[in-house]
Amino acid sequence: MKRLENKVALVTGGSRGIGVSIVERLAEEGAHVAINYHSASSKQLAEDLKEKIEAMHNIKAITIQANVGVKDDVERMVSEVEDTLGDVEILVNNAGIAPFESFLTLSEETWDMTYQTNVKSIFLLSQRVAQKMVKKRAGKIVNITSTASLLVTSPVIPHYISSKAAASQLTKALAIELGRYQINVNAVGPSTVETDMTTEMFEDKENYQREVEANPMKRLGTSKQIGDAVVFLASDEAEQVNGHLLMVDGGLTVKAAQPDDHLQH
Ligand code: NAP
Repeated sequence: MKRLENKVALVTGGSRGIGVSIVERLAEEGAHVAINYHSASSKQLAEDLKEKIEAMHNIKAITIQANVGVKDDVERMVSEVEDTLGDVEILVNNAGIAPFESFLTLSEETWDMTYQTNVKSIFLLSQRVAQKMVKKRAGKIVNITSTASLLVTSPVIPHYISSKAAASQLTKALAIELGRYQINVNAVGPSTVETDMTTEMFEDKENYQREVEANPMKRLGTSKQIGDAVVFLASDEAEQVNGHLLMVDGGLTVKAAQPDDHLQH
């Protein structure tokens, strides 16, 4: 028996980057997976991933376009999962954006969009799926926050860093609020992982090398390692783990930052 056999999971931002590894690991463990995407350009990626995991793991998958920061989209998406796969038992709030803009010229639109995608989405989705989880007295919610929720990581992007701190604190508050219904709410905090989100930052090879050097393990993490952590928190093995921020960061958040660890952007 696989660890997540026949569970129904919804992964936001599941067609690209870290989301792909989360989807693949959940499917590998036997879960049926709803893959959310937002951009039209990600539709084909989501479809290809659906076909791949269905063929490899004998599970059911669906793809759903939705903006996780918009209530009507969230309602439509969760209803579609319920109608096709069943009630959501594992919610992974992975979708996120990190616009690389400097504080002094940051627009109000970018600030609002960052909070809408990184924080409000967790409120909207968790509230919607919790309605069913509360009745069943079971459920797992895993939020992908960041080492940036604990440290001022570099490059310094205040809107992103503060949104991730809010997401981590929201994780803890929901853990207390929903724990009484046997719903576990935890977070996984990656340090830097190479995805589209970090491409711009690593165009400068010196930035990449400094990031590696700043990490106590002298290497970056991988998307698969994030997927592994999500599987653990979504499984019965984590039944008594609630309100935890699991940093998958090589020890970065327990190390005192050195001034020259900081990158320019
Ligand atoms: P990515 O490659 O840029 O992918 C971002 C994902 O979020 C995409 O699937 C995107 O969907 C989705 N998304 C963005 N806005 C959305 C919206 N309004 N509605 C629905 N989906 C939306 O980023 P990543 O590196 O995989 O990051 C995944 C998560 O890990 C994020 O929460 C990020 O903050 C966190 N994280 C990443 C790193 C890192 O170094 N990569 C480090 C710490 C934390 P579309 O493609 O459809 O737009």
